[in-house]
Amino acid sequence: MNTKIEHIEAIALRIPFTAGGKSDVGAWGDGDLKTVDSLVVKVTTDSGLVGWGESFGFTSIPAVKVAIEQIIAPLCIGRDPSQIEKLMLELQRKLHIFGRSGAIMFGLSAIDIALWDIAGKAAGQPVHQLLGGADAKALDCYASLIRYTDPDTVVANVERALGEGYRRLKLHEVELPAVQAARQRAGDDVEITLDVNCPWTVRQALDMAEKLRPYKLRWLEEPVWPPENFEGLARLRREAGIPIAAGENASTLMEFQQLLRAGAVDFVQPSPAKMGGITELRKVFALANAHNTSVMVHTFYDGPGLLASVHASAALGGADAVVEWRYFDQEAYLYGDAIVPKNGAIAVPQGPGLGIEPDPDVVRDYRLP
Ligand SMILES: [Mg+2]
Repeated sequence: MNTKIEHIEAIALRIPFTAGGKSDVGAWGDGDLKTVDSLVVKVTTDSGLVGWGESFGFTSIPAVKVAIEQIIAPLCIGRDPSQIEKLMLELQRKLHIFGRSGAIMFGLSAIDIALWDIAGKAAGQPVHQLLGGADAKALDCYASLIRYTDPDTVVANVERALGEGYRRLKLHEVELPAVQAARQRAGDDVEITLDVNCPWTVRQALDMAEKLRPYKLRWLEEPVWPPENFEGLARLRREAGIPIAAGENASTLMEFQQLLRAGAVDFVQPSPAKMGGITELRKVFALANAHNTSVMVHTFYDGPGLLASVHASAALGGADAVVEWRYFDQEAYLYGDAIVPKNGAIAVPQGPGLGIEPDPDVVRDYRLP
């Protein structure tokens, strides 16, 4: 008899953090955030295997938690956890009328990642092995800095990250003095990317790009509103003189195809905890290969979603695969020190499944009721 999914639990966590100074008021939800919320799922089979997944978190958590508990989980209980592709396609078809992104897709993403964890554990193999295997024992990462706006605070955190061994940085600034200060402090050899989170029209973005060009950005991320304005991004890419990255707000394989076919990006950034988990992520790697475009997986999270990205990037990414590390100093990490980068590189877990288990003490101590 086949193994069955027996139980699904959605667990919200709230962990205090600092980020080397005051974040920009108005950015990051409430402004000066003091805690980071994440949503993990625990899927248990009737054979006793446990898999962990993660959905994109922050203020979307109440909606996603309900979507998992009341809509998705009942459709998964009793199903064969090894038939991931079939189950995910069936659920996408069944639930498409409720939207192809947002809470439902975020929830499906979490379940999918947990099922890959279970598949690896059932096979006694790390997920990267199931995806084709990987030589790399570690991947380079970039420190993804919070938005500070104040140039002195930006410089202090650039120094902090460089001091810890990072050679690649991402800024979330939207004003020029902050970017200028970061480049000045980092020098020319450090790779700096700039993520502005969709603020501008195409014209405004072109004007900004002209001013940003001297700072030699590796990429400019999500410059245009709305994020699905692929033609606008493509024009910017042709005219701005700065490589363009986007994709964390794209969902479904079809939308990634539209983004890539439009020639919108130099770097495509699928977010496994948002766009369908490892099942969809590996398809985007294949699609991006067909479009000769690099995949830089979005992972502004540090749970199973991050591990999913590490395994997929290690197995499917080329030599230029780089992992995003959210540069927060958290009071605790779900995986303790195991996942925290050292010298700007993150270990590729070698254990079965996602390769590391959440720390039960962290789950107990930081769980939201
Ligand atoms: Mg981004």
